[in-house]
Amino acid sequence: MYKILTGFVLFFLFQISFGANDISMRAKKLHSKAIVCDLHSDTVLKLKKGDYILGERHSTGHIDIPRLKEGGIDLQVFAIWVEPKFLPDSAAKQALDLIDLFYQQLEKYPQDLELATNIKDFKRINKKGKIACFLGLEGGHAIEGDLSLLRTFYRLRVRYMTLTWENSNPLASSAADTSSQKGGLTDLGKETVKEMNRLGMMVDVSHLSEQAFRDVVNLSSAPIIASHSCVKAICNHYRNLTDEQIKAIAKSGGVIGINFFSGYLDDDFRKASDSIYKEIQVKKEEIKEKFKGDDKKIEEETSLLYRNANFPPPATLSKLVDHIDYIVKLVGPDYVGLGSDFDGIPAIPLEIKDASGLPEITQELMNRGYKDEDIKKILGGNFLRVFGEVCK
Ligand SMILES: [Zn+2]
Repeated sequence: MYKILTGFVLFFLFQISFGANDISMRAKKLHSKAIVCDLHSDTVLKLKKGDYILGERHSTGHIDIPRLKEGGIDLQVFAIWVEPKFLPDSAAKQALDLIDLFYQQLEKYPQDLELATNIKDFKRINKKGKIACFLGLEGGHAIEGDLSLLRTFYRLRVRYMTLTWENSNPLASSAADTSSQKGGLTDLGKETVKEMNRLGMMVDVSHLSEQAFRDVVNLSSAPIIASHSCVKAICNHYRNLTDEQIKAIAKSGGVIGINFFSGYLDDDFRKASDSIYKEIQVKKEEIKEKFKGDDKKIEEETSLLYRNANFPPPATLSKLVDHIDYIVKLVGPDYVGLGSDFDGIPAIPLEIKDASGLPEITQELMNRGYKDEDIKKILGGNFLRVFGEVCK
């Protein structure tokens, strides 16, 4: 309904945004009619700076309300990610502070954004022409080993949680963990998965080690998701998904949101940029030490590092759609979606640029001969199915 009402307005916005590209009228129409869901963004962290508000169009970053509208996004997940410097003791406090910042934005833009707790809610919000959203917790360390905190986050409308991030924690081991001792899910991790199943919170396996992944598959009674992950057979990054994992997620009835980061999409980019990222990491630590206490300065200097680095060209839109294609060929069109990781990653395909660029994906899927029905599933239908099934 929302799509029909706003289709006309969106058409003109698309004209402005995509003048330089060839989005066909048919693709625009289909994109505008489809329910578009983005399973993962890190935009909330930007709110910490105080000068980033969601209501205005920014020339930097990827997400704000105007660009979400231009991209035809109907449901946006906002991730709550706790910086490692706050671990382990201030993790929950940090997560709660970020949630508070996000709620302040919701209060500021009630005409545009509303939290959806379940599918019924989503439909109601979508009908009103607003962008629905909910929170995802990125990294189980935020619950500080306490299931009562997990329940509190659930009550605050957190609807999925990645058990780990790039660091192993008391719940599970991370895909980034190279220690030979690393296990799968801990006893606490197992309790957490069971409690998430009981509550109706999606278990998110992005960032998880292979052993922990297997444990989740064996344990979870609900479909599982990988909110922002790509295909290992195309790009051999340690946190991309193997064929076995993709099949397991499909078998659970879950969904994989394809991440837009070139380092996960394109093996050439990954190889060429690996050493650059490592170098930046070392310099970042030096900057943190040098400007301790001056967060603004640290951020300025860090962003300079990225700007001055000699990165290879980012992955192409075609490469991104290759990942979708691969999953569709492996398990069918019902288990893949979009998990951009907007505002949490550099180097996204130039054709997409930011949240306003999602119609490019629709066009590329059309160019490859996808049926309209399947394109709609990939853009958001598949995720809505899982959301409806798990978050009752
Ligand atoms: Zn992530």
